[in-house]
Amino acid sequence: MPLILHVDMDAFFAAVEQRDNPSLKGRPVVVCGGLGPRSVVSAASYEARRFGVHAAMPVTEARRRCPEAVFLVARHRHYAQVSRRLRSVLEEFAPDVEQTSIDEAYLNATGCDHLWGGPVGMAKALKQRVRAELDLTCSVGIGQNRFLAKMASSLCKPDGLLHLESHRVPELLWPLAVRRLCGVGQKTAERLERLGLRTVGDVARADPGWLEAALGTWGRWLWERAHGRDPVTGRREKPTERSLSHEVTFTCDVSDPEAIRATLLGLCDRLARRLRKAKAAARAVFVKLRFADFHTITRSRTLGHAVVMTEDIFLVAWDLVRQGWAARRPLRLIGVGVSGLLESGWQISWLDDERQRAKERLALATDLLRDRFGEDAVERAAVLLVRGHQDGRR
Ligand SMILES: [Mg+2]
Repeated sequence: MPLILHVDMDAFFAAVEQRDNPSLKGRPVVVCGGLGPRSVVSAASYEARRFGVHAAMPVTEARRRCPEAVFLVARHRHYAQVSRRLRSVLEEFAPDVEQTSIDEAYLNATGCDHLWGGPVGMAKALKQRVRAELDLTCSVGIGQNRFLAKMASSLCKPDGLLHLESHRVPELLWPLAVRRLCGVGQKTAERLERLGLRTVGDVARADPGWLEAALGTWGRWLWERAHGRDPVTGRREKPTERSLSHEVTFTCDVSDPEAIRATLLGLCDRLARRLRKAKAAARAVFVKLRFADFHTITRSRTLGHAVVMTEDIFLVAWDLVRQGWAARRPLRLIGVGVSGLLESGWQISWLDDERQRAKERLALATDLLRDRFGEDAVERAAVLLVRGHQDGRR
């Protein structure tokens, strides 16, 4: 039977800060994207969470809720270093480690657990190694698929260990509110509640055909999860599931279409560069707009072909922005992303057209310059003009 471990560091950024500065231990610590008036919380220690502070909350709100907290600016490079050490610890336990974010990873432990006398023994040993090597705590969820492993770790945080065996799904998952299911956001939860589905058990007991009629294929997805089933046991199928995105928060709200357009172009440029680095092409483009009143919308479009160049992504993204953004309504944040990634869609298939080739050479040269001299080495003129509006967070 497949065996998956999901490892999730506890309040990662805040825990690293508390580890590095012992005078912060036991105190509420809030790590922020910046300290400006528009910044948001990146991570909150468990002491700060008790005051209702959580990630993505505006820093001003966090200060109001917990004025005595220590507020720090995130040190992403440092956290990335710690994350790399974490990865090498995890690789001691299983050959197949898939890191899904800076502080989370799935281990395909199928056939590896005998060395530690079973899954729980393995997870215990792993937690001990992480503590010894990094002086940090993590929570480990165990399951026979990714979904169960991830649910397990979310249920046992912090510093927990839970083996969520399939036969315990009715006991452990069904009493939970639907919004606790991994993959169910606020909006979806509200939609489910309107259908009379409040708990995971409500979903599990619903007729799958009815769910599918009401919610589309997603209804079937949800019903399977409510029963603890996930077709993906090992590594997620790479290209189709992945997405890339960039966003920027303006230091002051922006309503000038030219400024928005130029910012979007800069974001598309970065995105295209990451696509090329990944030797991937994208079949869908999405944009995210957050207005001055925090109302946030997304617009997306699936394309009949794959895109990889800045201009191609930008044309779609700009069209989507114009659909969602009317009458110079002041914008607080703009983001753009791509999904439906295909592998190696670029280097071969785009060589036909001479104009395309020129664009490609320019793109490659730009990439090389940025690799060598940093992100700001090359910038489109239009992007430079609006630089003053941005606070640099992405
Ligand atoms: Mg975490």
